[in-house]
Amino acid sequence: MVLSFFPLELFAKNDPISYDELIGKGTPNLQGNGYKLRTEVNDAFLSMVKEAKTSGIDIRCVSGYRSFNRQKAIWERKYRKYRADGLKPEKAIRKIIEYSTIPGTSRHHWGTDLDLVDGNFIDTPNLLSESNFEKGKPFHKLKLWLDENAGNYGFYEVYTNDPERKGFKYEPWHFSYKALAVDYLKQYKKLDVLSILQSEEVKGSNHFTAAFISEYIEQNILYINPELLP
Ligand SMILES: [Zn+2]
Repeated sequence: MVLSFFPLELFAKNDPISYDELIGKGTPNLQGNGYKLRTEVNDAFLSMVKEAKTSGIDIRCVSGYRSFNRQKAIWERKYRKYRADGLKPEKAIRKIIEYSTIPGTSRHHWGTDLDLVDGNFIDTPNLLSESNFEKGKPFHKLKLWLDENAGNYGFYEVYTNDPERKGFKYEPWHFSYKALAVDYLKQYKKLDVLSILQSEEVKGSNHFTAAFISEYIEQNILYINPELLP
């Protein structure tokens, strides 16, 4: 994997995906009932939902598109909580990025990624936690079904349980629509993420060093299921 703090290729104004769309500040065409996804992604999602129904699984998208401001609210809520718990800024940031992204860097900004559960067990506590997807737990049947079938609809797990993988922890619920998301990541890699993050007013961002962001890009943004790499 070639890693660089500076983008290897500069972002051009005529690139097919706009800068704003990459960081959650665009106005993409979205569809969905109770969630939002790009039209093409939603079409594939609905086909998958229909097929899973025949196996008694009620696939629900509990989180699709997320704007920059929505991610900022999530980030700042966690930052305030961990600081109030007594964690130093750097520790609080490390704790947040076990599962949550820095605003401007979420794949959910692209409208290509979604978090899935089985609606038959929608009242399960801590809905998006790894243990709910284990054998004998509410979402295990969903997990087995997705392992077998999601790829047929173009969806791939992003943060796999590969023990070698760094970055975000294992997220058996988070899937990505490969046909679009690979291009988004390709474009995203051209961005100067450090400058973007330093120019945004986000709590804790004054503690983002160049070394930290470089590591974050390498591990949290790029250390994903190889199926989804450009
Ligand atoms: Zn997710």
